[in-house]
Amino acid sequence: MSVEVIKVDVTLEECQARVVGLDSETQKAVVCALVGHSRIKSTAMWYWYCGRCEAQVGDSLAGIYEGTEDVVIGHDCKTCWNNYGKLTWRDTFLAPNPFARQEGA
Ligand SMILES: [Zn+2]
Ligand SMILES: [Zn+2]
Repeated sequence: MSVEVIKVDVTLEECQARVVGLDSETQKAVVCALVGHSRIKSTAMWYWYCGRCEAQVGDSLAGIYEGTEDVVIGHDCKTCWNNYGKLTWRDTFLAPNPFARQEGA
């Protein structure tokens, strides 16, 4: 038995076909497993989380995480907007809109 190798060139159509019928939490985890974590990230304290599956993807405290290509949810700064323009469906598929205004905030 060989371990199934994750395809890095999976298309959006293949990705959508894989997640059909799954619940939304599972869909997000499957998408991240297929194409990697989204560059849309959320941050709490010094920890960084994938904006799609909410897995912890790094922490800036240890200096191992740069985040220079990321779009931080709710950040709405020039760098984030610039980075947002570079995202692909691999980042945005099933991920939240990072610039959505919080209702009532
Ligand atoms: Zn993820
Ligand atoms: Zn920003």
